[in-house]
Amino acid sequence: MSNYRIMETNNFGDAIFYRAACHCTDEKCDLHLELEIDNELHMILMNIYKDLWFEEYWGTNNWFEEKWKRIKGALRLLFVGRLKISDTFIFGDVTQIRNFLDVLHGGMEQLEKNIKNDDKLLPQLKKELLTGRR
Ligand SMILES: [Zn+2]
Repeated sequence: MSNYRIMETNNFGDAIFYRAACHCTDEKCDLHLELEIDNELHMILMNIYKDLWFEEYWGTNNWFEEKWKRIKGALRLLFVGRLKISDTFIFGDVTQIRNFLDVLHGGMEQLEKNIKNDDKLLPQLKKELLTGRR
């Protein structure tokens, strides 16, 4: 299911991929989502992919300060293994927000249907995935 500024980019039955266009029109700013049935964890997952930018996060205009912060971030990633960083995705208007939610809702309905029709899933696992109860 695709909608205004949000499109389904792939569908494998147990995983549906979407791309949402950022209002700033930079493709590098787009948000990529994956709704996925994880058969090993017995959960429904949402994976979010987005390019993050150091200079935008740190808000500096000083070239040396920006590079030093990047080096510190790279070292933190190297030795700690994770970074806390954020970036902005801009919705163009309320219609895009509604469509974003509609597309996700449609994806969840598709996954629920696929879970119900999957003969390989055991009844108990189906119940866990659909109700979230264990
Ligand atoms: Zn953007």
